[in-house]
Amino acid sequence: MFPIKSIKQYHTQLLNGQTNCAETLQYYLDQAERNNHLNAFVEVYTEEAKQKAIELDIARNNGEPLKKLHGVVIAIKDVICYKAHTVTASSAILKNFTSLYTATALQLLLDEDAIIIGNCNCDEFAMGSTNENSVYGNVLNAINELKVPGGSSGGSAVAVQADMCMISLGSDTGGSVRQPADFCGIIGLKPSYGQISRYGLLAYASSFDQIGIFGKNLDDVALLLSIMSKHDPMDSTMVAMPSSNLSPIVAEKDKKIKYCYFSQALNHPSLDKEIKEKTKSLLSQLKTDGHLVDEIEFDLLDYIVPAYYVLTTAEASSNLSRYDGTRFGHQSSLPAQDLNEFYFNNRTEAFGLEVKRRIMLGTFVLSTGYYDAYYSKAQKIRTLLVQKMDAIFKEYDVILMPTSPETAFDLGQNDKDPIAMYLADIYTVLANLTGIAAISLPLFSHTNNMPFGLQVMSNKADELTLLEVSQSLMNQFYTNQVV
Ligand code: GLN
Repeated sequence: MFPIKSIKQYHTQLLNGQTNCAETLQYYLDQAERNNHLNAFVEVYTEEAKQKAIELDIARNNGEPLKKLHGVVIAIKDVICYKAHTVTASSAILKNFTSLYTATALQLLLDEDAIIIGNCNCDEFAMGSTNENSVYGNVLNAINELKVPGGSSGGSAVAVQADMCMISLGSDTGGSVRQPADFCGIIGLKPSYGQISRYGLLAYASSFDQIGIFGKNLDDVALLLSIMSKHDPMDSTMVAMPSSNLSPIVAEKDKKIKYCYFSQALNHPSLDKEIKEKTKSLLSQLKTDGHLVDEIEFDLLDYIVPAYYVLTTAEASSNLSRYDGTRFGHQSSLPAQDLNEFYFNNRTEAFGLEVKRRIMLGTFVLSTGYYDAYYSKAQKIRTLLVQKMDAIFKEYDVILMPTSPETAFDLGQNDKDPIAMYLADIYTVLANLTGIAAISLPLFSHTNNMPFGLQVMSNKADELTLLEVSQSLMNQFYTNQVV
């Protein structure tokens, strides 16, 4: 019976009396305990989760109808506010900080009777690709513990991968849901910008950040997306989009799909040979099956990582200025002569290296004299990319591309070279720069025994197409070899 295969099946089992919420939760708590060394959780909310499970069992036994997420065990990334629980962005600057309110996205899950099992480790302020930039230490990939789980939402990915919850939330500013999903052999969805409220999500780069979902089957992911896709007056960048038709996914069998892929992406020198070959053979299979599969030119590929790092660090330098130790955050015990020194001591002591690097880079690209050379230029590239995406989606349903140029890195592999690490974001940042929706599907297994994914991207606000196409790809190619 355990782990639960899908929310739908779980609810059937609950109604048949084959299991109950308390017993189910206990399975996931035991898994979290057993896998404690993977370091996926910052905190497991054992007692309150158990209490909630008991309440739900009583309510159900009294004949109350099941809400959509009745008893569903969910973990959240340590950047999502949950009232009266600590939220730290895995940073020393927020150590022991307690949320004053609950993020809208999370509240929508609680309103449907989800059980929140705990919050998950991540790269500090969601900056990173390996989960090695966390004040709580590394997270290990459950498939091979010498490998990273990816980042920044590494803990949320491993919590799903190793069955420590049924589904989890991460955040994706430049790939932080899709890339760890790729490394861990699970599904990772980044919705379109504006699809899920950011109210209560600690900001890294506000015009890029989106809450995303990790799961092991698409129906569960679609269900969570439909529940969280609700207009929220607290987030003025939300775009109200219809959500009722997202779940369940009804993929029309035999429907011919218009796929495209970028020749520059598949021929990029950084792309692992086997990822290239296996992705190509999937593309030719789709062609053989009668779908349109066009190779198109995308000569902006080499600009997207620099544009992403200029714009996100600029936004981060502004967003993270609030952590100065005055109203909240770490306060140094060193004496300070003036306010500047007070800020300096607090921030120097408590921010990690990568966060400091990005704050400084962002401050630099915004400074007088360099603004036009970097920030304005990157904005222009962003506009060109948006125009390019608009043109592509006039002709095609989805874009296909690898999620990452490599399978999961070895722990410590990129410690010394931040640029090498940044360049590995080549396939994921496009979706955040342009606001389109993207998902990583765990379709492949490498001869090095690690999984890797196929990335599917659809037009902004077209999650329906994204999910339908993804379902048909999963039906055809998912073999569950690894997980
Ligand atoms: N790897 C990217 C970065 O380091 C992704 C971050 C994210 O999506 N939060 O910026």
